[in-house]
Amino acid sequence: MRELGPTQYQIVLACTDLIARAGGRQFELGYLHDDVPVDQAGWYAHVQYRGVRLFVEDQPGPAEAADALARKLLTGGRCRCGRLVALSRDGAITYEDATMADGSRWTVAQARAAGQCLWRRVGARWEPACPPPVNPNRPPRRERRRRR
Ligand SMILES: [Zn+2]
Repeated sequence: MRELGPTQYQIVLACTDLIARAGGRQFELGYLHDDVPVDQAGWYAHVQYRGVRLFVEDQPGPAEAADALARKLLTGGRCRCGRLVALSRDGAITYEDATMADGSRWTVAQARAAGQCLWRRVGARWEPACPPPVNPNRPPRRERRRRR
């Protein structure tokens, strides 16, 4: 089996990191066929996420399988900023009414009204475009400076 290049390795890491953050379980990445060229091995990836099994298959390599799975995991999700996760700037997202992690329903109309937050892979991590949420437990700015 060929070694993963640095970029491919980061793609796989970004996928596992995303799964860990999203609370996905039983992540599996593998291939079906031995003794064939690597791009014909039938790479697949799956993960258990919110009671659903997400699955990608027939990918040309492990990085492609991990990337496709990460995109599937992100598609239709709601970002921490309350907007819909977008994976490209064209905003062409198919979206259906969804039940969120807290059990609430999120309709197409609500998702559209919320707008979109562009997510992209930065090295070994998927990152949203929105700034990190302010932590209410963080000490005021002046105090933080003094501690340095
Ligand atoms: Zn966001």
